[in-house]
Amino acid sequence: MAVQQQVNKFIQGIGASSGIVIGKAYLVERFKVRLPQKRIEEGAVEGEVKRFLNAIQDSRDQLTEIKEKILDPQMRKHAFILDVHLMILNDEMLIQDTVDTIRQKQVNSEWALDLTLEKLDTAFKAIEDEYLRERRSDLHYVSSRIFRNLLGKKHDDITKIKGKVIIVAHDLSPADTLQMNLEHVAGFITDIGGKISHTAILSRSLGIPAVVGLEVATSLINGGDLLIIDGDTGEVVINPSEEVSQSFIKRKRRIQTLEREILKYASLPAETRDGVRVRLQANIEMIEEVPSAKMHGAEGVGLYRTEILYLNRKDLPTEEEHFQTYRRLAENIYPSTATIRTLDVGGDKFLSNYSKNNELNPALGLRAIRFSMKETDIFRTQLRGILRASAYGKLRILFPMISGIEEIRQAKALVEEEKNGLLKAKVPFDQGIEIGAMIEIPSASITADLLAREVNFFSIGTNDLIQYALAVDRINEHVSYLYEPLHPAILRIIRGVVQSAHQAGIPVAICGEMAAEPAYALILLGMGLDEFSMNPISIPKVKKVLRLSRFEETQTLVDQLFQLPTASEIECFVRSWMAKRFPDHLIECYTEEVKA
Ligand code: PEP
Ligand code: MG
Repeated sequence: MAVQQQVNKFIQGIGASSGIVIGKAYLVERFKVRLPQKRIEEGAVEGEVKRFLNAIQDSRDQLTEIKEKILDPQMRKHAFILDVHLMILNDEMLIQDTVDTIRQKQVNSEWALDLTLEKLDTAFKAIEDEYLRERRSDLHYVSSRIFRNLLGKKHDDITKIKGKVIIVAHDLSPADTLQMNLEHVAGFITDIGGKISHTAILSRSLGIPAVVGLEVATSLINGGDLLIIDGDTGEVVINPSEEVSQSFIKRKRRIQTLEREILKYASLPAETRDGVRVRLQANIEMIEEVPSAKMHGAEGVGLYRTEILYLNRKDLPTEEEHFQTYRRLAENIYPSTATIRTLDVGGDKFLSNYSKNNELNPALGLRAIRFSMKETDIFRTQLRGILRASAYGKLRILFPMISGIEEIRQAKALVEEEKNGLLKAKVPFDQGIEIGAMIEIPSASITADLLAREVNFFSIGTNDLIQYALAVDRINEHVSYLYEPLHPAILRIIRGVVQSAHQAGIPVAICGEMAAEPAYALILLGMGLDEFSMNPISIPKVKKVLRLSRFEETQTLVDQLFQLPTASEIECFVRSWMAKRFPDHLIECYTEEVKA
């Protein structure tokens, strides 16, 4: 159905992949099939079950064919998404529940499947974990394919897009994206989805601007409409006026200039004017992010979050999967080092079959290393994968949520046992692989002098450290005003940890979000941090400010901050210090520009 032509109409979504583009809309109509609801005769029930099972089999065959046809190596690495869809097509609940409904209620397949989906959808919506909740969209892609097969409808042929277009869809199936010739795609916009939906993840890793969660995009936009999309702010303009187009083009140029300016710092050493050298590394959770980490000047991976390997599936990753993933990471980042953090599940992230989120205080519950020490088979499998991969590059192991000496000793004992097993089996690994503890619980920071004797390095996780030290839930918006990285307590804790580590002769990294803020990075430098790990995009701006500073002046700044009694006074002091010290404002402006 054609919709009314919109002119200069602004709609707001969620910026999912950076960049501003202008282009013609290409509408992918995906879920707009009308579902017939019919009751069926008793004698026709088994025939209907067969019709449903055939549609499932057709869907499996089509997805397998799509998967096999992906030859582009850049796209092949995303083909795992199709495996997720194939897994859903084998889901007992989906199939059996629908078959049961056909038999018991004597209704047609479309109706029965729709009822099953309703149940599954409600269950998904109740999930708190954003990543898992987002996987509802996978269920929708798969069901839309089954419906189309049941109805004998053709699937949109989007392999033949011409020109350069902005893809507009209710939601994009990864199967769709994987089939597209990306040379013709300038951007993606979708009605649904969040920052970590597949469309978002995929477009970021492909470097294609995207806006998701627009809700009304497919109902307001006609194929061929001119669109402007801003993947940073989440704005979309339908058929913009000349004036609006010009203002976006101007903004795009300004951002590009600032980005180019700041990117110049990416490849330079992270060294202060008075010759103090630190290591700036990347926090990542997918191998696909390695090129971006390198482009932004990361000297290695300071935090490889491994949770993603466990999420979005019913079974557990095998030793071989762990091994292959970490091996690729080690090889891709070589000669730099990658720090692999063992599973940090629990709290706000949980595995479907294990740590059900039914604890009264999940943040204080069976999280991270506690979970690993309880489910030692899962832990040992991961450890063997890391150890085996360590033969192919430089890897370090990092244990999350360490609260004291016993825990670190127990975890290290398991590493030793797995090492012995590999030695006996003559499997190669790095016998000197370094082991680190995350410092994110106050008890660990208070006993840092003791812990420092047990490990090769520390990594301070300020995201959690602030939560636990200040008793402020990191995801509770009602107390977020109390979440203060510059609280005098936090500064004292960090300084104490660095002193203990240095006395024991081990380096200290920081991998919490705090490291990515230039002003905070200078304070951390002044407190003696050796390594800074952050999202790749922030590396150049932090590098720039470090290179413009003298270590000595950051030490003086820290001394001054330690005289101040409250977080707000410290924050104020730092802001005015930065404004005086960097009057050209380029660093601040850049951050605001991107957020604006
Ligand atoms: C932290 O707590 O600072 C950290 C880096 O870990 P995560 O955010 O994954 O808990
Ligand atoms: Mg943490």
